[in-house]
Amino acid sequence: MISQPLSARWTRALVLLLMAGLASRLPAATGDTRVATWRDDRTAVYLLMFDDGWVGQLQVAIPELQKRGLTATFYMVPEKHEYKGVAAKWAEAITGGNVVYGVHTMTHGGVKDLEHARWEIGECARVIREELQPGKPNRLVSFAQPGVGPGKWNINKEELTLVLQENNLIDRPPFAGHGAIYHWQTLEQMTALGDKAVAAKGMEYLIVHGVERIGAKWQDFWALKQDIFLPLLDYLKAKSDARELWVTDHITWHQYVVERDAATVRTLNVTANGIQLELKSSADSELYDQPLTLVTEVPATWGACTIAQGETTVLATAVNGTLTFDALPNGAPISISPAAGN
Ligand SMILES: [Zn+2]
Repeated sequence: MISQPLSARWTRALVLLLMAGLASRLPAATGDTRVATWRDDRTAVYLLMFDDGWVGQLQVAIPELQKRGLTATFYMVPEKHEYKGVAAKWAEAITGGNVVYGVHTMTHGGVKDLEHARWEIGECARVIREELQPGKPNRLVSFAQPGVGPGKWNINKEELTLVLQENNLIDRPPFAGHGAIYHWQTLEQMTALGDKAVAAKGMEYLIVHGVERIGAKWQDFWALKQDIFLPLLDYLKAKSDARELWVTDHITWHQYVVERDAATVRTLNVTANGIQLELKSSADSELYDQPLTLVTEVPATWGACTIAQGETTVLATAVNGTLTFDALPNGAPISISPAAGN
């Protein structure tokens, strides 16, 4: 009989199909944890970068960023005359938060050779780490190569890589296709970069030079009009509040990517009253010390949770059985428990 094996085959195929369908619909198990692609499990990243230390950045951009809680990177040129008169103000600006300095060389005049590059780049990094934004010695700092005239940049790629390594500097992505005024003139073009990042769940960035100072006698180089700049910040703030965009500085983004890509998370134990996890990263923990965001499935009845790791305890609230929180990828056990009174 030929019908017997055929129907058996059909039955098996049907069972396999059903199993596949069920597996794809199975709810995540309590304790299941993933490392979020981006901080706070936001969809994408937008980096704002400001070059050359123009006065409009200090007078307009920084206060407007701080008002909205948006972070950006500012690439400094300590020997430039616009900087010298207001150096103390740049050092002060970090006290309000949201400001991270990067290296744009000492003079913006180019480099004659390797030794000169070591000074142009290394001394600028020293000024930032010791004078402008003191912090952990040798911490990573962002580097943006200045645009200089023909014949003014006289080291090759390998020599630049060497100087960046010697100074714990990370090269930022290129200016090409990302310059405000130069490549993009309208608000719509600048917000389109953000929409593109969200669609790709990736990172986009905009490099700004000057910012318009209304009523001032002179304006910055390539000053971005306030009636474009301020709505751009409002767009970024709204996208940040909606958890679509993570607006941060170049180094924090870079650290997150490196740590995330080198991270493993394990669920150690799950009981009715708690979940234990372990988060490790093979990245150098001296330089890569940002927390990563974890997303853990918890019982649907859990609301407020306490999360303990080493000496640190934080609170977070689960939403529909999903808890999103930050932890350090240092291998120290992470204990999640529902807060009392849940
Ligand atoms: Zn520049």
